[in-house]
Formats: sequence, structure tokens, C-alpha cells
Amino acid sequence: MNQLTIIVATDQQGGIGINNTLPWKLPEDLAHFKRMTTGHPIIMGRKTFDSIGRPLPKRRNIVITRNADWQHNGVEAVTSVAAAITLLDGVEGFVIGGAEIYRQSLALTSRLIITEIGQTFDCDAFFPAINREEWQETAREAHVSAVSGLPYALVTLQRKA
Ligand code: NAP
Repeated sequence: MNQLTIIVATDQQGGIGINNTLPWKLPEDLAHFKRMTTGHPIIMGRKTFDSIGRPLPKRRNIVITRNADWQHNGVEAVTSVAAAITLLDGVEGFVIGGAEIYRQSLALTSRLIITEIGQTFDCDAFFPAINREEWQETAREAHVSAVSGLPYALVTLQRKA
């Protein structure tokens, strides 16, 4: 089983966020995120947790912070990516962002679930560049948002052996 999966939505230039929030409104992607992560542990940086504002239900919420005193009801706080992975104890976990945590966990990840949004937005947080040679695309579904008209694709990449 994959121990670590990254799930992310990016614009055409790898943008993922602005001012600690999402740059776009894409309810279909939020529904996809919920479908994929419910029942699984989720690992996030403290800034992403602040941006969401609460632990997400029906998921073990693991937050990474350098502040050893940080705590929140319904959250397990750890002080490194490695400590977050240790907590998984072999169960598949989803890294849900943000940019700093994606950068630090990409090399440890065997599966990427990417929502590729077919536009460019003003962003100040970016997903790290990936070497496509190292990844096999195993699924791609193209959609257009019924709400905003935004084109997007749900893509799965598996790290090559
Ligand atoms: P982040 O990765 O969510 O969190 C950064 C924080 O994580 C740091 O300030 C630190 O917390 C902690 N941290 C990072 N590395 C650590 C380490 N090695 N050891 C211990 N703690 C560590 O923040 P970000 O890079 O600013 O990303 C946030 C942006 O991404 C927002 O705009 C958000 O909306 C966006 N986002 C987008 C998506 C998407 O799919 N499009 C998903 C998630 C987030 P302390 O400061 O508490 O020490």
C-alpha cells in the first residue's frame, strides 16, 4: 500500500494559494478532496490548518508546527514531517499541504492526486516542480465546473518503481 499520498489542486503555473487561502472557488474539487481523504489520516502544515480553521471531520488530523506548545482540540500536533509519518504506523496518509509541507514530503510520496485547474491565478504559494519522468500517469478525468465554468482535470500519478 502507498504510505503517503499528496493531494493538491494547482493552477497552470503550479500556484496553490494566495494570502493563506485558495485562489479559486471550485466546489467540485472540495467534494473530490472530501471523497478521497475521508476515513484517512491527513497531514498538514500549521498555516494550512489555520486556513481551514478547524479539524476536518471523519479524518485523523495531524498538524506539523515548530511550536512545541501549539495545540488544538481534535488535532495531533507534531514538530516534523518525519514525526507525522511515524504516527501513521503503516496506514496510508494524505499530505494536504501547504507549499512548505509539499516541498518536504514530495520525495517521500509514492502517489500524487492533482487537480489541474486550466487557468492561471494570482498566487504566492506554489507546488514544487515535479520531474514527470519519475511519475506514471494512471488516471485523468477532464471536467468543467458547473458552478464557475472552470476547466479542471483530476489526475493521478504513481511514482515509477
Ligand atoms: P504550510 O505548509 O501549510 O505550513 C507551514 C508551517 O508548517 C510553518 O510555518 C511551520 O509551522 C510548519 N512547518 C513547516 N516545515 C516544518 C518542519 N520541517 N518542522 C516543523 N514544522 C514545520 O504553509 P504554506 O507553505 O504557506 O502554504 C499555505 C498555502 O497553501 C495557503 O495559501 C493555502 O491556502 C495553500 N494550500 C493550497 C492547497 C491546494 O491544494 N491548492 C492545499 C493546502 C494549502 P509553525 O509556523 O507553526 O512553526
